[in-house]
Amino acid sequence: MPSDISVSKTPSSLNSGGFCEDDECLMDGDTASPEEISNLSGAVSMLLQGIGENPDREGLLKTPERVARSMRFLTRGYRQNPEELLKKAVFTESYDEMVLVRDIDIFSMCEHHLLPFFGKAHVAYIPDGKIVGLSKIGRVVEVFARRLQVQERLTQQIRDAIQDVLNPKGVAVVIEAKHLCMVMRGVEKLNSVTTTSAMSGEFISSPSTRSEFLRLIGA
Ligand SMILES: [Zn+2]
Repeated sequence: MPSDISVSKTPSSLNSGGFCEDDECLMDGDTASPEEISNLSGAVSMLLQGIGENPDREGLLKTPERVARSMRFLTRGYRQNPEELLKKAVFTESYDEMVLVRDIDIFSMCEHHLLPFFGKAHVAYIPDGKIVGLSKIGRVVEVFARRLQVQERLTQQIRDAIQDVLNPKGVAVVIEAKHLCMVMRGVEKLNSVTTTSAMSGEFISSPSTRSEFLRLIGA
């Protein structure tokens, strides 16, 4: 690997936080009012009835509220602004070689079935006078992933946010993910992985830059 390329693995704690047995932690930073939680819980209760369940049986008594809080957590990206987040950590720097953050864990939900899709994102950019704190790359991925998504749009939104804020010479994003709506419903083979990519600038205009990126992520 050439020495002028920065490759960093995201800290495993970055995306693993948040889920625990204790439902309280799902409320971390959530601004939902009691009324919003109550409305969402009511909808979940109707969903349970709709599939023929009895929301009043013991095992399901707390399920509507639990699901309501869980859904708020899984969609908290709607209440976060990725551009603002990036702007907080932009620095002037003359480094102008590729910066690559590989293997960022993503957990998102498909907007067609409300089922999870999950996998890895790889994000690279070539600075043009400005760099951004590396952890912010993972955070931007997280903000867009924690919304209802299609993988194609998620990939492009990450590219566009970095392009807009940093105005670098180019951005490249590749996401590899498994979709439970395909796996669980038997539409595709169990281990099928969907790969999407979105690029800009030198990653499009320079075949050698693009192939270097693809080689570094092992594509
Ligand atoms: Zn789906």
